[in-house]
Amino acid sequence: MLMTPGPTAVPPQVREAMSREMPNPDVEEAFGERYADVTRKLAEVYGTDDDLVVLGGEGILGLEAAVASLIEPGDRVLCLSNGLYGDGFADFVESYGGEATLVGVDYTEPLDATAVEEALDEDGGAGGEGGDGGAGGDGGTDRDGGTGGGDGFKAATMVHCETPTGTLNDLGGVLERLRERGVLTIVDAVSSLGGTPVPTEHVDIGLGASQKCFSAPPGLTTVSVSDAAWDAIEARDPNTLYTNLLPWRDTSDGFPYTHLTANVVALDAALDLLLDEGLDAAYARHEAAAERCRERGRELGLDLYPDPERSSPTVTAFHVPGRAANLQRRLDEEHDVVLSTGLGDLADDILRVGHMGYNADVERVDRTMDALGAVLDGE
Ligand SMILES: *Cc1c(COP(=O)(O)O)cnc(C)c1O
Repeated sequence: MLMTPGPTAVPPQVREAMSREMPNPDVEEAFGERYADVTRKLAEVYGTDDDLVVLGGEGILGLEAAVASLIEPGDRVLCLSNGLYGDGFADFVESYGGEATLVGVDYTEPLDATAVEEALDEDGGAGGEGGDGGAGGDGGTDRDGGTGGGDGFKAATMVHCETPTGTLNDLGGVLERLRERGVLTIVDAVSSLGGTPVPTEHVDIGLGASQKCFSAPPGLTTVSVSDAAWDAIEARDPNTLYTNLLPWRDTSDGFPYTHLTANVVALDAALDLLLDEGLDAAYARHEAAAERCRERGRELGLDLYPDPERSSPTVTAFHVPGRAANLQRRLDEEHDVVLSTGLGDLADDILRVGHMGYNADVERVDRTMDALGAVLDGE
């Protein structure tokens, strides 16, 4: 039983959809229509009017494509982080020649809108100098189309759910401040999208992936792009191919490369399951699964790694210093239950249960925690 925080178990309806005959994405209109359906359904899940793009490639491609498309050498980027994915954004920025300013806090601390404000203040008022700013206040119209001019921050990156520590970040205040300063925002919502409401206000590029709360197989990354982000990308005209979002702005004349037909059809089926259930019902199901997981963990004497208030409804991270790898191995060997450990320095300190998508199910969580209880008994 696969209970990892991505890839998640794929339900039969989605697997079955993948085994049907596929239209040729380079030749047949039918594929274009299917793709358009998928982007419409995705926009509903994102809760946005922005354009949606689906790239062929695992979730990391979306993170890299966002940076590669928007950031050119010399661009300054504010990277907000309280986790591994947040830190990783700074590496992407640097690798594309941008100058990353990391506003990082301890992995157990929340992202702080005040710290962001200070970074922006120290910077001497980003955004305004690029164009006709100042007059703004009506959200978004005071940006200069991101020509990269001015010394301020061009963009900021952040992560909604830091999957490695099971932390859900409240990004509302941070996004609002960045918007006031005319800074474009890139938000990684890969492990929250579809499992809990994701931020939509003031998000310029919003990232998701097929293998987390959609419970489709890994292979696709989903990207929402605001008009301001499109304008900024167009203004710099990226010279990469695979990581360039620009050819995806209008795909009516075809896709930049042959699309991953089986994955697109799978995501379509997964989106149908989610939207037929209803987003509110799906979010409530994730909350219930998370609550059960934590309640069972408490009964077993396990602590959560993040503050319970900030634990994501999609993943539970138990703090088991020095025991995670052994617990993971025994759960797999003795009970056929697959969980994840932590990552990086916390690899052996955190044991993670994914209750995402298909796995956000109280009965599956109970079976997982029964097995964990048995393993702990014999530790
Ligand atoms: C899963 C995930 C991604 C996608 O990358 P992986 O290769 O699966 O690690 C990106 N961001 C977050 C927060 C994720 O949880």
